Amino acid sequence: MDEINEIQKQQPVLTDYFANVIMQEHLAHAYLLTGPKGIGKRTLALWVTQGIFCQNKTAGSPCLNCEECRRIASGNHPDVVHVAPDGLSIKVEQIRFLKSEFSKSGVEGNQKVFIIEDADKMTVSAANGLLKFLEEPSGNVVAFLLTESVNRILPTIVSRCQLFELAKPTSAQLTATLRKTGVTADKAIILGNLADSSDEAKKIATNEDFDKLVRNVCVWYLHVLQGDARCFVEVQMNLMPLVNNKDDEVILLNLIILLVKNSISVYYGEKDNIFVKFQADFTELIEKLTAEKVTEAVELVLATRKRLMVNVSFQNVIEALTIDLSQCYHS
Ligand SMILES: [Zn+2]
Repeated sequence: MDEINEIQKQQPVLTDYFANVIMQEHLAHAYLLTGPKGIGKRTLALWVTQGIFCQNKTAGSPCLNCEECRRIASGNHPDVVHVAPDGLSIKVEQIRFLKSEFSKSGVEGNQKVFIIEDADKMTVSAANGLLKFLEEPSGNVVAFLLTESVNRILPTIVSRCQLFELAKPTSAQLTATLRKTGVTADKAIILGNLADSSDEAKKIATNEDFDKLVRNVCVWYLHVLQGDARCFVEVQMNLMPLVNNKDDEVILLNLIILLVKNSISVYYGEKDNIFVKFQADFTELIEKLTAEKVTEAVELVLATRKRLMVNVSFQNVIEALTIDLSQCYHS
């Protein structure tokens, strides 16, 4: 329910649009909602569905409290059908089941909604089955297809849908969302700048090593900026022990990217509001660099990200980056 309360703030353009369409009774038969994981595609689809069924709506927006709204939120509404991958894919049997559910509705004339999560995971036969369904829409049916990558959906399906891309929340919005869940101010600012969605940020926030990783990577970066040789051993001693899997690798690299990118802003005189605890130390050292050096450093870390896509040891890559950054800042 919390997420549904938030969706109007996170996706104001889309919720306004859909509220208006509901009010005008101009809903299309099929919508394709796209955007990264955790951005709120499912929540938006549920919010619109509530708007359709709500007994108490205001200008197309659902009340979130009536019987209909509650049943939709809890996944217990008889006229709202969810389809999600069964194992790795959405199979043709699942689409057949969906169609049989909807053939009943034709008789009763009820409004029906179906929501297909990870629609790109449909098998070819499932996609073809769905396509026939979308080509012959029966009266009161609205479909929501959700996907992280619209490129993996059959073009013939895409062409039957209205496509909407969900906007990424700004760093400030993410930070505010995290603060409300009880994350400390310092941590919320870093996470707000690090993550693409509130789900991703909340997930990182639960990583018990995250605070330590932030502290250690800041000390490492301080030593890189100071030209202090301790930064070389710190990769193995202080950073690698906190990196246990691919997700951790991404977090560490994104923290380094954030530190190095933030250095450009600091160089050009912006106050460092992200790494607050290290603000004074970083600023003093960064001000002594040149515009060329702070820019080149960003290119170095972005090149490192590319290097990681090839299968090489993460530790080797971070050690090489430490050498490159040290040379860049102190040449
Ligand atoms: Zn309601």
